[in-house]
Amino acid sequence: MKTKNCDLCKVEESILFRLQIDKGKTWLFVCKSCCEKSQKLENYKYGGTWKGSRH
Ligand SMILES: [Zn+2]
Repeated sequence: MKTKNCDLCKVEESILFRLQIDKGKTWLFVCKSCCEKSQKLENYKYGGTWKGSRH
């Protein structure tokens, strides 16, 4: 199983959420808790889920 580190808190996860928190900026991959925190931000944009495991 592949893992990535959250771009915000650096925790290693096998499922990350792709999102933008600044308009027009690059996409971030963040963990579930950072995703939930980021939902309050004005420019939050959800772009899908990244999974390290393939079925
Ligand atoms: Zn995080």
